[in-house]
Amino acid sequence: MAMSRGSAFLRVFGSALAAVTLIASGCARPRPAASGAGCNVLLITLDTVRADHIGAYGYRKIETPNLDRLASEGVRFADAGSPVPLTLPSHATILSGLLPPHHGVRNNGAERFPEDPATLATQLAAAGYRTGAFIGAFVLDRRFGLVRGFDRYDDDIPRERVADLDAERPGRVVTDRAVAWLSEKSEKPFFAWVHLYDAHAPYTPPEPFRALYADRPYDGEIAEVDAQVGRLLAELDRQGLADRTIVAVVGDHGEELGEHGELTHGLLVYEPSLHVPLLVRAPGVLPPGWVVETPVSLVDLAPTLAGLVERPFTATAASPLDGRDLSKRLRERREPGAQDLYAESLYGTSFGWSPVFALRQGEIKYISAPRPELYDLRHDPGESQNLEGQRQGEGKELATRVAALAKSGAKSAAPAAMDAEARARLLSLGYLAGANLGGAKGVQGKDPKDAVVLFRAFEEAHGALVAGRFADARSQYERLVAADPSNPVFVGQLAETCRRAGDFERAVALYRQSVAIAPEDRDARYNLAVTLQEAGRDEEAMEALTAAIRLDPGRPEAHNALGIALALRGDLEGAREQLVEVVELDPHNSRAFNNLGNVLRDLKRPEEAQRAYRRAVELAPDYADPLNGLGTLEVQRDNPAGAIPYFDRALSIAPGLHEARLNRAIAEELAGNRGAAIAAYRDFLARSAGDRQLVEQRRVAQQLLARLERSGSDRGVS
Ligand SMILES: [Zn+2]
Repeated sequence: MAMSRGSAFLRVFGSALAAVTLIASGCARPRPAASGAGCNVLLITLDTVRADHIGAYGYRKIETPNLDRLASEGVRFADAGSPVPLTLPSHATILSGLLPPHHGVRNNGAERFPEDPATLATQLAAAGYRTGAFIGAFVLDRRFGLVRGFDRYDDDIPRERVADLDAERPGRVVTDRAVAWLSEKSEKPFFAWVHLYDAHAPYTPPEPFRALYADRPYDGEIAEVDAQVGRLLAELDRQGLADRTIVAVVGDHGEELGEHGELTHGLLVYEPSLHVPLLVRAPGVLPPGWVVETPVSLVDLAPTLAGLVERPFTATAASPLDGRDLSKRLRERREPGAQDLYAESLYGTSFGWSPVFALRQGEIKYISAPRPELYDLRHDPGESQNLEGQRQGEGKELATRVAALAKSGAKSAAPAAMDAEARARLLSLGYLAGANLGGAKGVQGKDPKDAVVLFRAFEEAHGALVAGRFADARSQYERLVAADPSNPVFVGQLAETCRRAGDFERAVALYRQSVAIAPEDRDARYNLAVTLQEAGRDEEAMEALTAAIRLDPGRPEAHNALGIALALRGDLEGAREQLVEVVELDPHNSRAFNNLGNVLRDLKRPEEAQRAYRRAVELAPDYADPLNGLGTLEVQRDNPAGAIPYFDRALSIAPGLHEARLNRAIAEELAGNRGAAIAAYRDFLARSAGDRQLVEQRRVAQQLLARLERSGSDRGVS
């Protein structure tokens, strides 16, 4: 929505009027040397998959033949823990061997992975591997920094259709891309990371799993993910690479499925969110069918995989590794040494609630929260009996250590550049781009476990909003705001719902309330500004935008909105400066390139305008507006016949883009196609009837049509 006005504001037609090599790759040494040097590495991350919903982990209500096969051919880690139940921070850990306080990515969408630490990708790229990543959801978009070290980072998730909020792509598509890349011939070994997002809510498995798991769609999604793992394994088999490829499959976090009051994941750090599958198959290197019982953390995975291919991480003083290289012990079939497992979630801080931190020592788990918890997982795996009051000594020691760990992050990662679209897309995934209102800085808010009833209602309201059920979403958010009027997320989401439903007045009032609650919240201020803009309150919008940019100068969409406001006032040069800023901050933003093209066109700089429009089309081939822009440029340079295919393409993508229809009629007329022009004007007038934004254009079209019709009858032609 924020961008729609930006893309529309200049769409007016006014200016238009005037082989073999594979054998060489892989492990260099002969078998049965227990070395993986030179082996390929295939890392598959399964989003939102609980360990205890997989056959190999003892779950009897599902069939996961491919994961089970990996378990029988490789090592299964019975007790692997995620350090954070959030996708981006967890993947940052999986790839880097650093805990969240040390890589600094604590929330989805809030920070960018830093430039300096080594990752599995940078490490293996430096060792001569070809590297490719295939991403299933926008939450891991390249802008969040995990792109470093990858030759190919395929995060091509549809970005332009904001309205349907389609922010993920099916694992089948991700796997197609990965299989195509794997089949490219190369003499180098490969490192491929494949991210399968399907098991994330909402659960909508495709057939045959939809029917097979009709009553358990979450399991159906896991069965689908298993099938995709099977396709990847089959591709290795087909190429004869299975013996020379180390395959690791890991969950980034689990899912509560209603346990502890949470439907999905993110807020709490109980075991259903943290206990994940971890399987590593390394033929000839690791013993097949072995089960490691000792608890391990996902932070150990990257150093271990690097160790298995004998390219160990070189930790620096600036970034000492948190994870351990377990490869030597595993090769010798020895259990890893015992280590404490750390976990955290700062997600609650987005709601003004407290963060939570956990430290697990063997079977004793301590959770640091306003009301601390202590569990004995051996006797109480469901974490239902808080022993904190009874065993204070143990609690105190763990409390001290977890507090030190949580605060030990020297760096805080750079805030990620996020545009409105990015936010919309993250939101459609069920994530709020965290404002980290208090977080590690120690602000004490409500204990998340006491907020879980509200959180669950929020999850449901959010589901309604994402599904476009605005009336439902609105009444649910109204109740949440009534229950917790100072919660910036609830107020903000109610405002967002009103805005999407077209009630700008209420939305503006709520955003003003949101700004009053959290004056430092950059989102609230920005949202207020663009809602004012959408409501047509341009002067107030300008004021609010200036305030938003003062608070957050690196935010691309604020510059975009300011560019629009300036263009509306006729300050084209000022608008151009703002839009150039946007595309520098966010070079994948096709809408900003389109807006820039519009401004450059009106500044009579057609070559630059053409470059900007073309970039927009490259980024988003099914985005109609820049095609319309390219057509108008052709008309301006006296090539009306060359313009028509652009308008046709624009209209085939967006039949409701009536400006393109009018532009097309004008081009037909200028090209001398009188009959086609008359038909096109009539078509425009018929289809745009009642469109209040096109009143002026319709008036002009009527005049042009009348003149054409007259000119025909003058000459006696009809
Ligand atoms: Zn995830």
